Amino acid sequence: MSTADSSSFAMSSATQIAAQIRSGQMTASAVLENHLAAITARESEIHAFNLVTIDQARAQAAAVDAMVAAGQDPGPLAGVPVAIKDNMCTRGVPTTCSSRMLEGWRPPYDATVVTKLAAAGAVMIGKTNLDEFAMGSSTENSAFGPTRNPRDTSRVPGGSSGGSAAAVAAGFAPISLGSDTGGSIRQPAALCGVVGVKPTYGMVSRLGLVAFASSLDQIGPFANDVADAALVMDVIAGHDPGDSTSIPMEHPSLTAAIAQGVEGLRIGRITDLPGGADPEVEARLEEAFAALAAAGAQIVDVQVPALTYGLTAYYLIAPAEASSNLARYDGVRYGMRVPASDTNSMYMATRHEGFGPEVKRRIMLGTYALSAGYFDAYYGKALKVRRLIADDFDRAYQQVDVMLTPTAPSVAFALGAKTDDPLAMYLCDTYTIPSNLAGHPAMSVPFGTGADDLPVGVQIMAATLNEPVMFRVAAALEAAAGSNGNGRGGQ
Ligand code: GLN
Repeated sequence: MSTADSSSFAMSSATQIAAQIRSGQMTASAVLENHLAAITARESEIHAFNLVTIDQARAQAAAVDAMVAAGQDPGPLAGVPVAIKDNMCTRGVPTTCSSRMLEGWRPPYDATVVTKLAAAGAVMIGKTNLDEFAMGSSTENSAFGPTRNPRDTSRVPGGSSGGSAAAVAAGFAPISLGSDTGGSIRQPAALCGVVGVKPTYGMVSRLGLVAFASSLDQIGPFANDVADAALVMDVIAGHDPGDSTSIPMEHPSLTAAIAQGVEGLRIGRITDLPGGADPEVEARLEEAFAALAAAGAQIVDVQVPALTYGLTAYYLIAPAEASSNLARYDGVRYGMRVPASDTNSMYMATRHEGFGPEVKRRIMLGTYALSAGYFDAYYGKALKVRRLIADDFDRAYQQVDVMLTPTAPSVAFALGAKTDDPLAMYLCDTYTIPSNLAGHPAMSVPFGTGADDLPVGVQIMAATLNEPVMFRVAAALEAAAGSNGNGRGGQ
């Protein structure tokens, strides 16, 4: 648990804030003003937000306070400020994907997650910065400039949900939402020292999430602790008939699951994991295994051979889907239009001006991978590798309940360190990508520090719909990190 500074709400947990607002000990308006003050104090340095929705947030907070005053319950997230990644649709509020392409576009509807958060009493405080269309690992691909890591502003916050991770780490909001296609929630969570969850594919509705790679994209929470992440999951998960890939089932309460401990659970150590992580990161992972063993879990060696090919398969499948999804930005239907003498020239001029270099690279890669003569050799083969990864995972999950890996190979790196080398940037996601390819849940929990005293995240991966067990392990790691005194970096 984070120890809240009693002089400030800014680092309080969402669970505590909601409880105090529901019981009338605190008002949503006061909580909001406190977070707005935190933003005023540090946002010019961090740039977590593309937009702070002050007026709408004040109105939402006032409505929550009015409900409490009238004896009604605003819901489990009563008055909790939440920051939303700017690739989720918000009705009438600009949604940019940090791309010039969507300049001036205001969605006509809310994403399902936004509707659900509001219905649970949460107060949307703003839209957060990201790598353009969620393509990147550092938030430096934003058309509006990078976000900086609140732990060290010379470093990146990770990406692509860097703004959402930084917003929580800086105390601008106790919780936020990101999207994760290949690691974009877990990797920034690790680099900023917060908890980040990628749910099972289909567990959280994608309705209103601007599509990057539809078969991989999932929305999930950032939070200061595991209990808060569970609370947000319990609000946003569940079937949505508006998303055809949403799983039609009752969502089990993760808040209830986390208290169950890890006694008797089998924790997988992957012996053929691709190497390349910093020694400090490897050391924290070993300590995580030791902590779980001490808490009564059993550590089991497993092999998942196809993991080695995850990155390669991802960089065919994700760009292929992106090239198709991004075909809709043509200067006619959304945002920007660059006028030209005829329609084709207008399409070209608009796409040339509207997209940044990384987005163009992905569209070209994906178009090539899908082109007639190369389809079988590239996209087709990548789909087969995807199947192999899922099969290898299935075999491993006959022996273990969860598997642990580093979340990211290193701690937060300096701004600019990888911008000239796309492959070095792509390698940030070696450990996170396989869960997306398999559709499995995975989360990152802060666990001690590495080089320069910066946070390290441990990734917990689980089989489809096994979030309850994943969260039990997360809670045990959090307790162990807290008790050795270095797991919560600065909290
Ligand atoms: N960094 C990966 C990419 O650039 C993953 C992005 C994501 O999960 N949205 O594609």
